Amino acid sequence: MDFEHSAKVKELIARLGAFMDAHIYPAEAEEHRWHADPANLWKSWPGLDALKEKARAAGLWNLFLPREYEEYSPGLTNLEYAPLAEMMGRVPWSPEVFNCAAPDTGNMEVLARFGSPAQRARWLDPLLAGEIRSSYAMTEPAVASSDATNVATTILADGDDYVINGRKWWISGIMDPRCTVLIVMGKTLAENPRHQQHSMILVPKDTPGLSVVRTMTVLGRTHSPGGETELLFDNVRVPKENLILGEGRGFEIAQGRLGPGRIHHCMRSIGQAQRALEIMTRRVESRVAFGRKISEQSSIRQDIALSWCEIEQARLLTLKAADMMDKVGSKGARDLIAAIKVVAPRMAQAVTDRAIQAHGAMGLSDDTPIAYAFATNRYVRIADGPDEVHMSQLAKLKIAEYAD
Ligand SMILES: Cc1cc2nc3c(=O)[nH]c(=O)nc-3n(C[C@H](O)[C@H](O)[C@H](O)COP(=O)(O)OP(=O)(O)OC[C@H]3O[C@@H](n4cnc5c(N)ncnc54)[C@H](O)[C@@H]3O)c2cc1C
Repeated sequence: MDFEHSAKVKELIARLGAFMDAHIYPAEAEEHRWHADPANLWKSWPGLDALKEKARAAGLWNLFLPREYEEYSPGLTNLEYAPLAEMMGRVPWSPEVFNCAAPDTGNMEVLARFGSPAQRARWLDPLLAGEIRSSYAMTEPAVASSDATNVATTILADGDDYVINGRKWWISGIMDPRCTVLIVMGKTLAENPRHQQHSMILVPKDTPGLSVVRTMTVLGRTHSPGGETELLFDNVRVPKENLILGEGRGFEIAQGRLGPGRIHHCMRSIGQAQRALEIMTRRVESRVAFGRKISEQSSIRQDIALSWCEIEQARLLTLKAADMMDKVGSKGARDLIAAIKVVAPRMAQAVTDRAIQAHGAMGLSDDTPIAYAFATNRYVRIADGPDEVHMSQLAKLKIAEYAD
């Protein structure tokens, strides 16, 4: 067991850290001001393109793409990517600068692994170049979507096309003017066994019959420019070549998509918690109440110490899960992925909650990134599968392992 990063990763950490210091942190206030202006709702911050160009030129691009796709990226393992994702997680909009933002990352992996040559040329290439963005549409208002076998939107063959009918909600990213394509999950073969009924299909955003019913908010936040939306698919017709992999193979694709996506969330959560702790220590060290620095209060010291312990625990578990994914794949590492998907956002929610408290009222404002990180980690406990579902799967695996 070696707890040191490799020389290659240390060099990348240094390079990414220098980029964050030079270009990302200094732009935070401007980016925030721009998005806070209601006139800019659903518009992309104009500073983004220049930063993307700089990141690409610096070789800090598509860092998430695993080694099999080295032609498009530095070809990192999950273990190598983890500290870099943590660093990007410190500033919520920064992953896009490095073309490492969800849901594009998961969609790019799907296209790289399962896309036909024509699908890859039309959508993967511009996604890898950071020219377009994408969405992933699975969740539906009418069914408990944490059990994805419930997904009821239909994707049915009709001549040379598939026709899609249904309603989705909580779909991230559609409102971004750069978003041009969605990967949609729906039911094609209703008579098949439960995990072989669903398919995934590529739907250009401007296809007739696809409409945004409403935009949604997350604890009052719009998440502009991407947003979350409720969508209606009313006889949406796309050519048969847009189907990914084949009819009834949606769950096979979802397996490949969700393992890396989940652990990336966790890596970013750790970055948010780490940053909140750092900001909290500076605040309590610089403020005096009742005749002594707030940092001298024992309850505050306990909060700092406990937060550090919990962050380090989650970080080590994330690294172990990432390492196992590299060694045996997402399926073999599913117990560790489930464990970290439960542990990391809960930890980050607890740490950011303590950091809010230590700031007093300021902690609830957007004058620091802590309130945003708190809200993010609250929803990560539901997005990509609620905690209870991961715990149920983890318990099932452990019962089989220990009770047999
Ligand atoms: C900010 C945000 C962004 C999102 N982005 C996307 C997106 O881009 N694309 C997309 O398709 N979806 C997206 N989602 C949706 C998300 O993936 C779903 O909300 C999630 O899978 C849960 O589905 P549900 O909301 O239908 O909850 P339900 O399935 O109705 O579950 C409700 C609750 O029931 C409980 N529960 C469920 N199963 C069990 C169990 N086995 N044991 C015990 N309790 C259980 C849990 O407490 C769970 O939270 C997003 C969600 C959020 C909040």
